Amino acid sequence: MNIKTTLQQAACLRRSSTTVAAALLICAGSLYGASVWAADTTSDKAAAPAAGSPAAGSPRILVLATGGTIAGTTDPRSAIGYNSGNVKGQELVRAVPGIEKLASINSEQISNVGSQDMNDEIWLRLAHRIQEAFDRNEADGIVITHGTDTMEETAFFLQNVVRSDKPVVLVGSMRPDGSTSADGPNNLYEAVEVAASPKSRGRGVMVVMNDQIHAPRWITKTNTTAVQTFASPNAGVIGYVDPASIRFVAPVLASTRDAFSLPTNGRLPRVEIVYAHSNMDGVQIDHAIADGAKGIVLAGEGDGDASREALDALDRAAKKGIVVVRSTRVMSGFVNRNVEVEDDKRGFVVSLDLNPQKARLLTQLLIANGITNPGKVQQAFSGTF
Ligand code: ASP
Repeated sequence: MNIKTTLQQAACLRRSSTTVAAALLICAGSLYGASVWAADTTSDKAAAPAAGSPAAGSPRILVLATGGTIAGTTDPRSAIGYNSGNVKGQELVRAVPGIEKLASINSEQISNVGSQDMNDEIWLRLAHRIQEAFDRNEADGIVITHGTDTMEETAFFLQNVVRSDKPVVLVGSMRPDGSTSADGPNNLYEAVEVAASPKSRGRGVMVVMNDQIHAPRWITKTNTTAVQTFASPNAGVIGYVDPASIRFVAPVLASTRDAFSLPTNGRLPRVEIVYAHSNMDGVQIDHAIADGAKGIVLAGEGDGDASREALDALDRAAKKGIVVVRSTRVMSGFVNRNVEVEDDKRGFVVSLDLNPQKARLLTQLLIANGITNPGKVQQAFSGTF
């Protein structure tokens, strides 16, 4: 047991309350991790498995770590307090018993941030590294450890820019190491299982959380704290996984268009999301125009609606050549064209089933690839099925 482990457990025991039983329960996560957290943390690039080994010719999985709660550690600021992005990917892999039997695993650290701090720079680094690993045939599948807050955005981004039929699986956890029921180890085990499975070929980017497999287009975070937070409201899960089996319930979908090129200047164009509400004026939209937004996504009410004043402000934006996309703040359903809003006349695009954060991303990628004509943008939104 190393010093870090001892300190973690001591802190955990200090934090835990009255009875010995409660103390043992509360500290179970840390105690469970005792032998594995002793891993060397000095190297970012290292073969992960410490014990056991995969059979010869077993799948090669590259774990790209970015941070998040799965890499988090508890903090005494409150009973549920923690800091995300503290533990390196290599340690995460070593913490999962039996994972080394699933595949030959290497891990690399791309970043170590809470996914609330995910940004263009990390996204581009991630996308380039994935493409490179596949192009050089360094891996049969990739697992990305990631915070859950913006996981759906990274998954959707990668799905739109990576060219490969090899699987890329994003995984995270809702509870950090040291909590009573840390979900990271099981989620990571299942993510590697899915990435290593021949059944995953052709399925591109997926998210594995809480025994479920989701597709980037539909997955969204639906609960602030629950482990069953992820859902795909418009389509349902594409599969289920447990440590013994993988069951896909959706067919492999053929991609309808090529992946987008990544921007060469290191930045995606500025696209703002404006959230609609009652008694809304056009001030925020006018500010977005003045601030140089190249696109505006409306997180609209109902079927992507907004007040007359807000729609008129969006009109002003569209007339200036800004791409205007109507999405919805509602959790499920499609935003349809020309229902209550005259999209054809105003030059607006509708996001269909893409929520505002994913509609924003697609708009950014389209603008970065020189597609700004509303008709073409609409085609691209429809063509992502
Ligand atoms: N704030 C964390 C993150 O997204 C939450 C999590 O990972 O569950 O990095």
